[in-house]
Amino acid sequence: MHILEKVDCVGTKAKKLRIAFAVMAIFGAASCSRAPTEPASVEGWPTIGGSYREDFYSPLKKISAENVDRLGLSWYADLDTDRGQEANPIIVDGVIYVSTAWSKVYAFDAKTGDQVWRFDPQVPGEKGFDACCDVGNRGVAAARGKIFVGALDGRLIALDARTGAVVWTAKTFDPETPYTITGAPRIVKDRVIIGNGGAEYGVRGYVTAYDIETGEKAWRFYTVPGDPAAGPDGEASDAVMKEKAASSWFGEWYKYGGGGTVWDAIVYDEDFDQVLIGVGNGSPWNYRIRSDGKGDNLFLSSIVALDAETGAYKWHYQETPAESWDFTATQPIILADIEIEGATRKVAMQAPKNGFFYVIDRSNGELATLPQPFVSVNWATGVDAKTGRPIVNEEAKWSASNDKNFVARPGAYGAHSWHPMAYSPDTGLVYIPTQDHMFGYQDEMGFRFHAGEWNLGNASATNVGPTSVEERGKSIKTIGASITAFDPSKQKTVWRVQHDGIGYGGILATGGNLLFQGEPNGMFSAYRASDGEKVWSFDAQSGAVAAAASYEIDGEQYVAVLAGFGGVVGIFSPYIKDPHVRPNGRLLVFKLDGDASLPDYEPPEFPFYPPEDEAPPSQVALGAGLYAGHCMRCHGAAAWSAGVIPDLRRSAVLISPEAWEQVVLDGALKSQGMVGFDDKLDQNDAEAIRAYIGEEARAAQHALTTLSE
Ligand code: CA
Repeated sequence: MHILEKVDCVGTKAKKLRIAFAVMAIFGAASCSRAPTEPASVEGWPTIGGSYREDFYSPLKKISAENVDRLGLSWYADLDTDRGQEANPIIVDGVIYVSTAWSKVYAFDAKTGDQVWRFDPQVPGEKGFDACCDVGNRGVAAARGKIFVGALDGRLIALDARTGAVVWTAKTFDPETPYTITGAPRIVKDRVIIGNGGAEYGVRGYVTAYDIETGEKAWRFYTVPGDPAAGPDGEASDAVMKEKAASSWFGEWYKYGGGGTVWDAIVYDEDFDQVLIGVGNGSPWNYRIRSDGKGDNLFLSSIVALDAETGAYKWHYQETPAESWDFTATQPIILADIEIEGATRKVAMQAPKNGFFYVIDRSNGELATLPQPFVSVNWATGVDAKTGRPIVNEEAKWSASNDKNFVARPGAYGAHSWHPMAYSPDTGLVYIPTQDHMFGYQDEMGFRFHAGEWNLGNASATNVGPTSVEERGKSIKTIGASITAFDPSKQKTVWRVQHDGIGYGGILATGGNLLFQGEPNGMFSAYRASDGEKVWSFDAQSGAVAAAASYEIDGEQYVAVLAGFGGVVGIFSPYIKDPHVRPNGRLLVFKLDGDASLPDYEPPEFPFYPPEDEAPPSQVALGAGLYAGHCMRCHGAAAWSAGVIPDLRRSAVLISPEAWEQVVLDGALKSQGMVGFDDKLDQNDAEAIRAYIGEEARAAQHALTTLSE
């Protein structure tokens, strides 16, 4: 069975279970503690992803496509944070543990919804400035009476599962550096492993393993080489850096970190006693600036297998050599045994940002099937069957031709990002929350590194570019999203559920022939896994971007999901159609015949605040450039925010030069993540930015008036 029925205090029963560590989970061998409640029977969900395989599949089938119309809210809990909620809840021994924005952790009785405890690591608000893509947290891990969370500011924290009290804290990086943690820790035997993010800012990626009991560091693996002049790191990655990675880099990448952060996928593969990590994009994105336009730049955009015990390199597969498009390979990795041409293969599956679907043989890192695109792709024509390398279109190599804007499909948001995909062994299909969009890239001449800010080397993303709505659409264009049902054995899309716009959530698949997914407009819906027919919907009042989990207590099946719109699409992307962003996130738990209901909620109106007098064009132009360099990555391209971080055109602060200065220069809203920029901007700059946003507000107001006439 998927998980334990009832965990007892002795480890023996647990050893037989598919998820041996769930054992050690709360009632582990080391300590024999009691859960806050003792339900008669529990089928849990002990890891984000449901098991070590992280397939986001629950075999439970009491809730099915036949009776899902009876599915109703059982209970809900309001959270105290208003940013994107990205965590998949875990359920162990009748308790739901879930992390929320700002790395807070809640424990609830999974049956009643009573809060057992909550933990706030008190991440300083200004650390939010270092988070490229919202201050979300994608979940916790459980083992041996402890709950583990990675805090945004780099602390890996072990909590007592019964009380939420801190057991130990490990510092995984210096919080003054622009690293962040948004991903979930993973349990690998006696250790807990965590990565980090920050490759847009200029950092060097790594993962670190810590002892579960003491928090002592066991090993670290760097994903890209450091400064050759500094010598070896004295870490598990030293040997392979010397043998393979170092010779694949040129120029002075180490000045910009090189990138390769492991910000999401870390999977323990019991079959081969190895850890698979998904490695991120290059820093900066621009390949000419990063590596003189030469070399594969290992291990950017790769899946790397590490020995679970020592962290030593075993094998790798690089999906995008010479990565230049923010094509991370950090997307969720699912482990499965699937039939390929009559033989059962132990594979790792990934649908990364670059748009091709990868099925990799876990024994050696080789392709088990030839990757095919799961979305429209224009940067490469395919993957070479002999070499396993993508066949990249010449015009896509944007940093090699400095006068052209290449509009890639997919672009930097990815054909698929962190939002979990699911694999159902019942249908043999992978369900990918797919995004179809375009994103512009142009070589940034005269690139200068700005410590602590985005350093992409991409003029198309960081310059303000064209200003009319039509023109903007050419640089960042959203075509749509879908649930793509993909057959990994045949490398073929079987069907799609086409969505309007992007910003859709992760997917849970169940034994009841169901898929669950949240929508940016606030609906949480169920589809038949066999054919994608929508069979149920619930108004969650806020977009759920996280994936749901499913569990059973006392014979009843539950589905749990966090609602709370956010993430990079919620921040950076304009043109999100009618996103529903509530003040606070929520945990929603459903069951058959659940009869709870949410309080009524009317989304507030946010009028535009254009200043009375038009600003001179030269000041607006100056402000536009400054906005693009300093403000855009949080407040949205073209001053257009999806609302998770304030849309400045709709901020009353805009009409007061004094208030504006206090916020922009003096950091009056620092505790909310809006740091003061007085080290980077002067009064004249601040006024220019205000003038630019003011004119954007006027244009938006005008468009609104014209529309309603
Ligand atoms: Ca990135």
